[in-house]
Order: sequence, then structure tokens, then C-alpha cells
Amino acid sequence: MTTHTLDIDTLIVGAGQAGIAISEHLTKLDIPHLILERNRIAERWRSQRWDSLVANGPVWHDRFPGLQFQDMAPDEFAAKERVADYFVEYVRKMNAPVRTGVEVTRVTRNRNRAGFTIETSDGVITANHVVAATGPFQQPLIPAIAPADDSILQIHSAEYRNPPQLPAGNVLVVGAGSSGVQIADELQRSGKQVYLSVGAHDRPPRAYRNRDFVWWLGVLGLWDAEEVSPGKEHVTIAVSGARGGHTIDFRRLAQQGMTLVGLTKTFHNGRAIFANNLCDNIRNGDENYFSLLDAADAYIERNGLDLPPEPEARIMLPDPQCMTNPLLELDLKAAGITSIIWATGFSQDFSWLQVDAFDEQGKPRHQRGVSSEPGVYFVGLPWLSRRGSTFIWGVWHDAKHIADHIETQRKYADYKDAAQR
Ligand SMILES: Cc1cc2nc3c(=O)[nH]c(=O)nc-3n(C[C@H](O)[C@H](O)[C@H](O)COP(=O)(O)OP(=O)(O)OC[C@H]3O[C@@H](n4cnc5c(N)ncnc54)[C@H](O)[C@@H]3O)c2cc1C
Repeated sequence: MTTHTLDIDTLIVGAGQAGIAISEHLTKLDIPHLILERNRIAERWRSQRWDSLVANGPVWHDRFPGLQFQDMAPDEFAAKERVADYFVEYVRKMNAPVRTGVEVTRVTRNRNRAGFTIETSDGVITANHVVAATGPFQQPLIPAIAPADDSILQIHSAEYRNPPQLPAGNVLVVGAGSSGVQIADELQRSGKQVYLSVGAHDRPPRAYRNRDFVWWLGVLGLWDAEEVSPGKEHVTIAVSGARGGHTIDFRRLAQQGMTLVGLTKTFHNGRAIFANNLCDNIRNGDENYFSLLDAADAYIERNGLDLPPEPEARIMLPDPQCMTNPLLELDLKAAGITSIIWATGFSQDFSWLQVDAFDEQGKPRHQRGVSSEPGVYFVGLPWLSRRGSTFIWGVWHDAKHIADHIETQRKYADYKDAAQR
């Protein structure tokens, strides 16, 4: 580590979409700042996502206000590298002060003076404000139930790249949110027999009556929902922009040969044991699907919109055999399972942020990203202010609120009473 010390008003940790968004707002407010990124700009889109991933939302929607995807039609879905390139372009356009290849290793509050000391892989910085923009999905989470079986390749969805990466044989994919279901579909299409363990999920239609679901969630105010509804804390959202975008339909996947099973409970003597809740999970997903169609119909009527009816959206395929006669146990060897993919989510790591900003469970204590520790901010966390907070367009609005808060605090700090003036 070099020993030079740099003073800056606001230090942002992480140059993903969250760090870039807050930089734009700070620039507009003329607040000196610096972004430190340990890898490259928007690194997670480059190296922690599978090869064929495209954004879940079309490019007219999944972007910041200040720049369009010029080379793409509005309803197309950007490939993951294109998303990363978009953020590099954005940094250039905004002239955002990013330093890449520098890791923040420790942040502590200064004693007897304001601000923070930030230790990095390239020196020490002091700053009045620190914004943690290190991502909602940081550390791949594999549950403790994962079997200790060296004959099976077990990877997290963040490590999955493409079908040839897996050994010959069949696959169990655990988790059927957007990642799990898309990976399962890709593996199935590559010729593998896939078992997909389906937990609680929401399953909006990709599009209904000529409008993508991102539009529906927007006009119906659902992206702005401020709290997870009680009982829905573990409900993932299953959507896909793959192959031009399509509705996730578990019955269709089963019709194409995939075996659906309920939540994976445990592994015992070479067997996977599943909860008997597949039908409930699929029917709850259906309920979510139909509730969106109903809300959309009501919205169209209330506003007198001229959007074509789509009655076929309400026709469901018959329940497949794996639903009518659910599999509760699977002998992994007999089923030829050679890989398990854990699409089971992520946790966060704030071990570098050594300030009083966390609750007993280690979760950030904050209100709309403004930490209980004055001068510390979080941006990009799930449900930071609303459902949209982790998404590209949502983080931009949260970042604005945080930049405004920093600006207000700067005014208080600059205040001089009559004796000082
Ligand atoms: C599979 C998948 C698909 C998604 N698809 C979409 C989509 O289609 N549309 C959408 O809107 N959202 C999508 N998201 C959600 C969200 O847009 C992404 O998770 C996005 O990467 C979050 O951006 P971020 O800036 O908050 O965090 P990140 O992208 O995680 O960026 C954080 C950055 O901080 C850096 N960092 C971390 N710790 C340090 C440190 N100590 N020092 C320096 N740097 C550090 C990291 O290297 C990283 O570059 C998707 C998420 C996943 C997992």
C-alpha cells in the first residue's frame, strides 16, 4: 500500500450501476467525489453472470434517463456484455471520476474529527461521506443442505456459464427465480435431463395486451411498492428476456421434458428429498399471474385505453404428470445427476465497513439508504426504498435522494454562527 492521503468530500465504493448513478447526482450538485472499484466498471455483468444472459427488461426501460441504447430497438433485450458496455459509456458521457482496480479494505470513523478514514489497496483516503454501492447480490449463497458428495459438481448460479461447462449427465437446478428457471431452460435445450426445484415465486406475464410487464408494473405502481407484503419475503420473481422475451410457464417446461419438483428440503443417503409443495407453489405463481392480468384489464378499462384484448393469455396448459404425481425423493445416482446448480440467491458482505451501521443480524440499518451512522449511505440494496431499488432504473432515483441528503448535510456542516462569521 502506498502512503499518500487523499481528501475528498464523498467516497463511493463500487462502480456498478448504483455507484455510477450516485456519481451523476453528486456531479449535478457540484459535490467533489471519487468512485473506487476493485475490478472493472459494471464487473458483475461481465464475470458473474452466465454467457447467454440478457437483461430481464427491454432497453427502453432498463436504462438510466441520461442515455439510450442507441444501437438497439426499444423493445429488445440487451445482452449482458452490452449492459456492461452501456455503463462504461455512461461513465464516459458523465465524465464520472472512477478509479478501477482499487479495493476498499477498511472504513473507520475518525476520532475527534469529522469524517472517515478509508484504507484501500492503493493508499489511504479521508472523506466526509462514504457511500456503499457494493451491490445487492454479492456473495453466492449455497444453503447448508448441499450434500457432501465429490462425485457431483455443485456450483452457484453466479458460477454457471454455459452447458458445456457441466460434465455429461443430468442436472438438478435448485431455485426457480429468474436465474434458476433460465439456466434450467438452457440446460434442457442443450439436451440434458433437468430436474427443477420450484419454491415460492411470482410469475408475471412477459407481456399482456401489447405491453411488457415492466410497463404494467410501472403504471400499476407495483415497482413503487415500499415493503414486501407479509409472507412474501422469500418469493422470487420468475421472468426472462431470453430469445426475445417470453412468459415463464412451468407447465410448458414440463411438457418439454423438464421434471419439476417442490422445494429441496434435504439430502440423505444419496437422495434429494423435496417438500410436497410443488402444486401450491405453481398455483400461487398462477394466482400472481392472473392478478396482474386482472389489474391490467381494470386499468385499461378505467383509462379507456385502446389495447387489443388477449383472452388466450388466460388459457393454461393441463397440469403435467410431475404436478399430479409429484416426486418427493430422487435417487441422485439412479437419476444420473452429475451436477447441482444452486440458484439460491446471495448475501452481502460489509466486513470492510467498520462503523456502527448494522443491526444484530449484520444487516444495514438505514432509512432509504441514509444510515443510522451519520455520513454513511447505502445504495442498490434490495427494497432500499421500494421494489425497484435493485433495478437499473430504480437505483437512479434512490441515488438522487441520497445525493440530496449529502448536499443538505454539507449545508449544515458549512453553517457558521454569528461569532464565526
Ligand atoms: C442474474 C441477474 C440478472 C439481473 N438482471 C437485471 C436486469 O435485467 N435488469 C435490472 O434492472 N436489474 C437486473 N439485475 C439486478 C441488478 O441490476 C444487478 O444486480 C446489478 O449488478 C446491481 O448493481 P449495483 O451497482 O447495485 O451492484 P454491483 O453490480 O454488484 O456493483 C458493485 C460493485 O462494487 C464493487 N465492489 C464491491 N466491494 C468492493 C470493495 N470493497 N472495494 C471496491 N469495489 C468493490 C464490485 O466489484 C462491483 O463492481 C440482475 C441481477 C442478477 C443477479
